[in-house]
Amino acid sequence: MQTVNVPLDGNSAAGLFSEVFAVDMTSAQATCAGCDAVGEVGTLRMWAVEMGAVLRCPSCGSVVLRLTSTPSSVWIDASGARSIAIQKKS
Ligand SMILES: [Zn+2]
Repeated sequence: MQTVNVPLDGNSAAGLFSEVFAVDMTSAQATCAGCDAVGEVGTLRMWAVEMGAVLRCPSCGSVVLRLTSTPSSVWIDASGARSIAIQKKS
């Protein structure tokens, strides 16, 4: 993934999420640990970095999720999310 200097929206991380999740993670509800804002992962501000992505809260700018893709694994750091709610398939 190419490093960019402007934020994309969290929908840009759909490809990384799809490597490990069978559901569309961009529609999951993330609660920011920094300010308690709740919104879809797709509404986070994504900064693409060489090995993955950093997704920041659009309200306070805190890092909510970090994704790193290696040849064998996708690493997810969700320490900036108080919770992530993934809707069940209906
Ligand atoms: Zn926040």
